[in-house]
Amino acid sequence: MRDFEYARPASLADAASAFSGGGEAAFIAGGHTLLPAIKSRLRMPDTLVDLAGVAGLTGISSDGDRLWIGAMTTHATVAVDATVAAKIPGLTGMAKLIGDPQVRNRGTLGGVIANNDPAADYPAALLALDAIVDTDRGSYAADDYFQGMFATALADGEIVTRVGFRVPLASAYAKFRHPASRYAVVGVYVARFADGVRVGVTGAGPGAFRWPEAEAALATDFSAAAVAGLPLDPADLNTDIHAGAEYRAHLAGVMLADAVKAA
Ligand SMILES: Cc1cc2nc3c(=O)[nH]c(=O)nc-3n(C[C@H](O)[C@H](O)[C@H](O)COP(=O)(O)OP(=O)(O)OC[C@H]3O[C@@H](n4cnc5c(N)ncnc54)[C@H](O)[C@@H]3O)c2cc1C
Repeated sequence: MRDFEYARPASLADAASAFSGGGEAAFIAGGHTLLPAIKSRLRMPDTLVDLAGVAGLTGISSDGDRLWIGAMTTHATVAVDATVAAKIPGLTGMAKLIGDPQVRNRGTLGGVIANNDPAADYPAALLALDAIVDTDRGSYAADDYFQGMFATALADGEIVTRVGFRVPLASAYAKFRHPASRYAVVGVYVARFADGVRVGVTGAGPGAFRWPEAEAALATDFSAAAVAGLPLDPADLNTDIHAGAEYRAHLAGVMLADAVKAA
């Protein structure tokens, strides 16, 4: 076992100060990604800065056309929250599909999007729901925030504080789950707004991305028929032990149709 310091700050300022105290530091939320990474020595922080005691990082509220969810809010909380269900039921459905009960009880919104696993569900939802990511240093539009496999716009030591999802007229998420981990082999989130349609895809490529051709087709006719057979170029998609790129391209079309029907 490798020794490390453990800090449990009560404010964002104290968390930032603990992070910059010297050596390599890491924030810990639910630990679902970070602890396995430490155990396997992919990460070897000198200081763990626990965000669990930091004021203001949990909670769900709605304000104008946005639904705000605190970074430390667990997937289990999102899955049962009445405000989420009333404002964006598609997000409720997505949260229920994340992992298993253990994962949903510990895993957090901030942890998922700081990590940006290419098969995680939330990135597709943030892109489709035109989300804003607030941090202790500023804000990012979801379109600018996600920057490919495990990469985001966050600077070293920057803390995600909350995410603001734009409330759509209708939305839904459909995913083809890996049978063991439940991560998305391919997941598609579709959101319809008064001024257009946004489609976020996860699991298929090196990072979550929008699907402009699907958005254009659905803007004029929001139906599964409008996107039947819509091609997605497999050249940019992942091939791994779970699925080939051509199969993922096919699955994206199937998940897109399922999400549109559900929305
Ligand atoms: C078996 C298993 C199955 C899973 N299945 C799914 C699935 O189906 N779909 C899915 O989307 N996800 C899935 N996950 C991931 C899960 O949703 C967790 O939320 C994810 O692993 C992140 O864990 P965490 O929230 O505990 O964050 P941690 O592991 O504590 O942190 C993850 C990373 O984010 C950083 N971080 C955490 N919070 C913040 C913050 N507020 N600001 C800045 N940086 C921060 C940490 O420093 C660390 O680098 C699965 C995980 C496991 C273990």
